[in-house]
Amino acid sequence: MGNLEHSPWLFRASEPPDTLPPVLLVGLTGGIGSGKSTVADLLVRRGAVVEDADAVARSVVEPGTPALAALVERFGEGVLGPDGSLDRPKLAQLAFADEQSRKDLVAITHPAINAEFLRQMQAAPADAVVVCDVPLLAESEQARGRGYPVIVVVEAPLELRLDRLEGRGVPRDDARRRMAAQANDEERRAIATHVIDNSGDLASLERQVDDLWTDLLRIKAEPAGE
Ligand code: ATP
Repeated sequence: MGNLEHSPWLFRASEPPDTLPPVLLVGLTGGIGSGKSTVADLLVRRGAVVEDADAVARSVVEPGTPALAALVERFGEGVLGPDGSLDRPKLAQLAFADEQSRKDLVAITHPAINAEFLRQMQAAPADAVVVCDVPLLAESEQARGRGYPVIVVVEAPLELRLDRLEGRGVPRDDARRRMAAQANDEERRAIATHVIDNSGDLASLERQVDDLWTDLLRIKAEPAGE
């Protein structure tokens, strides 16, 4: 297996490396309610393959996985619920208690997450645009370590995000609390190669995704490293 920590600009999806067109790896991020999932869906319709970071992070600690066993060994049986699955609030309570515990959590889960990302990427068509939906990309040094050559940040004004989330059943106070724990627009912009402004209607969003898609295909066609 290759090493995502050292992934170049573009890298090859599978063997034999010299004969296949390159995959383009795109990180997609934004605050909650900004429209990441909507943008991801629009990109899929244009031919992208999407990997969902939250789903990957959940899958690597399912019952029976080596990462879950390692978490139990490090943090104790208390991190398991009655059915043997991971009790996330309990793990968070233990793992965020001190810096060493947090580092141990990262050391256990991130290699498994990276390996699963790589596995999914290798399963993608050889010349795919692979879009990784990573809500906490700006917050996570480990996630950025995957070396995304393109990072798309989706933005929308705070009140509009709250309105849209409310429409999806998320209470405003709840959403505000979660937003306060996330990076702000400025911090996300600092890592962006492309910014999507989702303050308009869906037609405006579609037009921007069309432009983005054209640019992604252009970047993918460039020789690696340019
Ligand atoms: P989360 O972080 O909570 O997963 P998200 O960033 O993935 O959110 P979406 O789920 O894509 O955001 O969008 C939030 C809500 O806003 C959804 O109900 C979506 O349908 C709606 N929405 C997104 N963009 C627009 C738009 N341009 N016009 C109208 N509604 C929109």
